[in-house]
Amino acid sequence: MARALFDQEHDLFREAFRKFVQTELVPFHEDWEREQQVSRSAWKAAGARGFLCPTVPEEFGGVGVNRLFSMIIGEELALANCSGPGFPLHSDIVAPYLLNYGTQEQKERYLPLMVTGEKIGAIAMTEPGTGSDLQAIKTKAVLQDDHLMLNGTKMFITNGYMSDLVIVATQIVDPASDGQPKLSLVIVDADADGFTKEKPLNKMGQKAQDTCILNFADVRVPRENILGGEAGIGQGIAMLFGELAWERLLIGIGAVSGAEFCFNEAVSYTKERKAFGRPIANFQDVRFKLADMKTKISVGRAYVDQCMEQLLKGELTPADAAIAKMWCSDMACEVADQAVQMHGGYGYMSEYPVSKAFVDMRAHRIYGGANEIMKELVARSI
Ligand SMILES: Cc1cc2nc3c(=O)[nH]c(=O)nc-3n(C[C@H](O)[C@H](O)[C@H](O)COP(=O)(O)OP(=O)(O)OC[C@H]3O[C@@H](n4cnc5c(N)ncnc54)[C@H](O)[C@@H]3O)c2cc1C
Repeated sequence: MARALFDQEHDLFREAFRKFVQTELVPFHEDWEREQQVSRSAWKAAGARGFLCPTVPEEFGGVGVNRLFSMIIGEELALANCSGPGFPLHSDIVAPYLLNYGTQEQKERYLPLMVTGEKIGAIAMTEPGTGSDLQAIKTKAVLQDDHLMLNGTKMFITNGYMSDLVIVATQIVDPASDGQPKLSLVIVDADADGFTKEKPLNKMGQKAQDTCILNFADVRVPRENILGGEAGIGQGIAMLFGELAWERLLIGIGAVSGAEFCFNEAVSYTKERKAFGRPIANFQDVRFKLADMKTKISVGRAYVDQCMEQLLKGELTPADAAIAKMWCSDMACEVADQAVQMHGGYGYMSEYPVSKAFVDMRAHRIYGGANEIMKELVARSI
């Protein structure tokens, strides 16, 4: 079905990015899975071709296009089963925090280098003791003259190991004022003394993604690195919530395309594989299951497209974004599971792309807010 959201310019961009993915990412992905990280050269190649931070305005080195281009990037990565490159998090989550809430100086310092891929961005909210309950974070930054003294540990951080800058959610405490913790975001440079990264975590899937634990032990963060400057103190929750709808929609978008990848794999395999003297795609049970998968993907896509339209008008509600994230990620996991089943024993073998997609997909139901939290948000909107 033709998608009303996209015109010829988008199609050309999609074609160019798809080619980039096939030549610069797919051939190396297996190596990156072993190395648990994507190569820096891939980041720089993406930057050189305008595929990083496409929404960043020209003033800061970007091309200043709208989020439909980000949507295309997210879809194409998922359609190619490329879960390693954390481009969407870097371009569409970290960069917008700087763009929307950063001071002019912060934007000038970081955005141009994020556009070129010379600096990789991460966002660190989750801690060993808390993820869903953001208000409960323990990381603390004590104001001392011209700097903050930052202490804490962050868990499961996407792009963490390769990050050059991390936006850290922390309680800021000012002993000279009321001494009360105020949840805020601060920018920490990777070369700051006391900031250490643990080696990438061994995950069930997304193995080329350098998700890791970050430790901050008496890290001196200059005061000018408080996101949004002094006015940003205590604004952490508002800033995080301001971007959450988009982040959740992005997960929904990736999930639909990931499901489509699994569906495509299932179609080709079942047409080739024979049992009882005929291709397994000829059994009615298999045909109906494929029809069911296609239906779910089509419905999911129609919903994320509708949400995208709302987002572009500035009207996407948190509840609608939560529905997209929750339903599409649940749906994608069901579709991936069904696709594995259709591959029989081969579907369980790691070298089969569908097996990789199945485990990669599972994280979608957990990150960006667990799906149970999405239900809570939807329920609250009723
Ligand atoms: C691959 C991967 C990448 C990630 N990348 C990042 C990143 O870049 N930055 C970052 O900050 N974090 C990241 N995370 C962390 C992720 O956002 C958290 O894991 C997630 O928010 C859940 O938090 P938690 O793990 O602490 O689970 P908890 O908060 O302990 O929750 C555990 C489970 O309890 C249930 N639950 C919790 N609260 C409720 C409730 N109110 N009602 C009903 N059920 C509930 C849910 O089933 C939930 O899954 C990543 C995680 C993964 C797996």
